[in-house]
Amino acid sequence: MAELLQALREIVSERNVLSGDQISDDYTHDECLNVAPVRPTFVVRPDSAEQVSRILTLANQHRIPVTVRGAGSGLSGACIPDPDGIVLSTERLKKIVIDTDNHVAIVEPGVTLGELDEATAPHGLCYPIQPGEASATLGGNVATNAGGMAAVKYGVTRNLVLGMQFVLPSGEIVESGGKFVKSSSGYDLSQLVLGSEGTLAVVTRIIVKLVPRLSHRMTLLAPFLSVEAITRTVPKIVQSGAGPLYVEYLDALAFAGACRRKNVDLGLPQEITSTAHAYMLILVEGAVGERVQEDAERLAEMCAENGALDVIMLPASKAKLVIDGREESFWSGKEAGMSDQLDVVVPRASLAHFMTEVQNISQATGTFITGTGHAGDGNVHLGIFQPDEQKRGDTIDRIFDLGQRLGGVVSAEHGIGVAKKKYFQKREDPAKLALLRRIKQAFDPNGIMNPGRVFDLEP
Ligand SMILES: Cc1cc2nc3c(=O)[nH]c(=O)nc-3n(C[C@H](O)[C@H](O)[C@H](O)COP(=O)(O)OP(=O)(O)OC[C@H]3O[C@@H](n4cnc5c(N)ncnc54)[C@H](O)[C@@H]3O)c2cc1C
Repeated sequence: MAELLQALREIVSERNVLSGDQISDDYTHDECLNVAPVRPTFVVRPDSAEQVSRILTLANQHRIPVTVRGAGSGLSGACIPDPDGIVLSTERLKKIVIDTDNHVAIVEPGVTLGELDEATAPHGLCYPIQPGEASATLGGNVATNAGGMAAVKYGVTRNLVLGMQFVLPSGEIVESGGKFVKSSSGYDLSQLVLGSEGTLAVVTRIIVKLVPRLSHRMTLLAPFLSVEAITRTVPKIVQSGAGPLYVEYLDALAFAGACRRKNVDLGLPQEITSTAHAYMLILVEGAVGERVQEDAERLAEMCAENGALDVIMLPASKAKLVIDGREESFWSGKEAGMSDQLDVVVPRASLAHFMTEVQNISQATGTFITGTGHAGDGNVHLGIFQPDEQKRGDTIDRIFDLGQRLGGVVSAEHGIGVAKKKYFQKREDPAKLALLRRIKQAFDPNGIMNPGRVFDLEP
């Protein structure tokens, strides 16, 4: 170990290798509710791809597990390290270049979403993928294929990444893609590394597409009698051509929690708050104010025709608070004792059926379940309140079975990590799992990259 410590110090300097008490609790966990923290042997903080390459070469020679860490905002325990391993923190990999001619940003993986947003704003551009935590890094977004509210309009991380540089455990530095939208030149390795949760390679540079920052926005709030009524309306909203940026839903409890968290009073009449079981939040944006107004009015009519109890155009300041409260629903749930959060996705048209059956599962297992989510994507975030581990596992299993029967998957955007691994492996086709293992073997023959995450190496 002393020899390894010395070698790591020679690569990144003494102050960028942490061990023992120097390793703060931050490096031991992410935000997953039910995976215990683990203290690694070393934390290393490289500042270039060359340093990453030398660290990986060394770890590979000594067969030391390496876990890459961005901001640790993940929700699946994917960046929780191995006790005998190294945490490779990307906190010093912070360069940003904005290329306004090609409408791309070239960023190092430790850049946070908040930092990229600040850098793009003066150019009238933005990176539109906004998973709910602005402290998350671009490296973490790539590794989890993050989504968020704007996915209904812009897609998820994999739709916005044009290229990347990554480092293999062998130390080889690989370039993939570039500042262009089209490529028909062999396998797309960026797409393979996207969503691989640090199990294949360390991403050291990312080229992302930027889009115009649209200045006109309107937000609609539509209370409905049931979540099912909302989910039946969603496909019509998506098909309207208005191209909303957000189509979110919150059940009544999550909505009340969001408003209370942000201390916002919308002055809704009691006959609405006492009958509405769910709320739809729609944000429309555009370059021309009148057009945004027209689109918002059209969507409001559509909501009314489909059973909305009312449709309220929220003033910008209140809209921001409600949206922020919705973004922070994970923290509200956590404070209220939530024991798990699922991010199942099903085909958009199956969401109504899914939500009805989830209510049946909730009753059958005696588990309280609350929901918010990216209704426009068929992706719900279910807060599971069930302290009994066995009953919780049973409830989650039933929900995942239901999602699978409807053509969905275990995780839409939070990833598998360790928290969802057993549920993922149980449902995957063995032939596909075998292929995943062969791919892992090709990238990482000694199995040092974030071992035990996503799937086990042995069937
Ligand atoms: C309140 C809250 C709301 C959230 N809302 C959303 C949401 O709406 N949508 C959504 O998609 N997610 C959401 N998340 C989850 C989280 O923000 C995302 O998963 C995010 O992408 C993780 O980024 P990170 O930098 O924190 O990564 P980390 O948690 O540090 O790491 C996540 C994974 O990425 C790997 N990794 C990190 N950097 C690299 C790299 N350079 N190379 C290779 N692998 C790497 C890690 O090893 C790990 O496997 C939310 C989280 C919170 C706390």
